[in-house]
Amino acid sequence: METVIDIQRLSKSFGNHEVLKDIHFSVNKGEVVCIIGSSGSGKSTLLRCVNLLEKPSGGKIIYHGENILDDKHDIHAYRRRLGMVFQQFNLFNNHNVLGNCVIGQMKVLKRSKEEAEKVALKYLKVVGMDRFVNAKPRQLSGGQKQRVAIARALSMEPDVLLFDEPTSALDPEMVGEVLKVMKELAETGLTMLIVTHEMEFAKEVSDRVVFMDKGVIAEEGSPDQIFNHPTGERTREFLKRTL
Ligand code: ADP
Ligand code: MG
Repeated sequence: METVIDIQRLSKSFGNHEVLKDIHFSVNKGEVVCIIGSSGSGKSTLLRCVNLLEKPSGGKIIYHGENILDDKHDIHAYRRRLGMVFQQFNLFNNHNVLGNCVIGQMKVLKRSKEEAEKVALKYLKVVGMDRFVNAKPRQLSGGQKQRVAIARALSMEPDVLLFDEPTSALDPEMVGEVLKVMKELAETGLTMLIVTHEMEFAKEVSDRVVFMDKGVIAEEGSPDQIFNHPTGERTREFLKRTL
């Protein structure tokens, strides 16, 4: 199996506060890995370290055989290969749906407007938002905004798509439409790393589940192992509170 990202001994401190400790894990091509764990356990920080929105304090991020934390490495080239979907959508409110999906392609990938619009439309169709190309974000529901944010990330055709609690800011009735799109993407073989509180979704869609607790990976395994046969006391406690 081809490894896309391999994290080794990753650590992150904010001042004296060590938020991530000795994190090891990898994401293989076509795999869906869900990260679960209590609030404050370091899940967002881990994702932000993976895409270098935060600078790790130590460890390695091996991408296609190279440690991208080496000084000589071109982190911009690496970051272009990762997509990110945030809890708060982070759409540009002054641009319409199509604009949101073409800006990054033109600026970062240097695609022509025509090419970028073609690609954007393709992915807006995938998420069922192609009828809304001219809408401004404020005219959309939360679920629709998040689907546009997913189309925008897909338009960059990343190697890995990272999601940080993509449904946590949504009204309950809109969670389903976003999870459905994510499930469809998972089935197309997209490589995905997803922080989520949606345990049913994680159980159904993941190839692997990572349970984080107080800055460490406390347990990792198949959804069946983690949800039906957890071995760690902390995993059991967490699931008892959550399920
Ligand atoms: P989670 O996403 O699992 O809820 P986070 O990664 O957001 O957890 O946070 C983990 C810990 O790191 C928390 O104690 C949080 O307060 C701390 N933290 C996160 N970001 C920062 C920051 N920019 N500065 C200082 N502390 C931070
Ligand atoms: Mg978080």
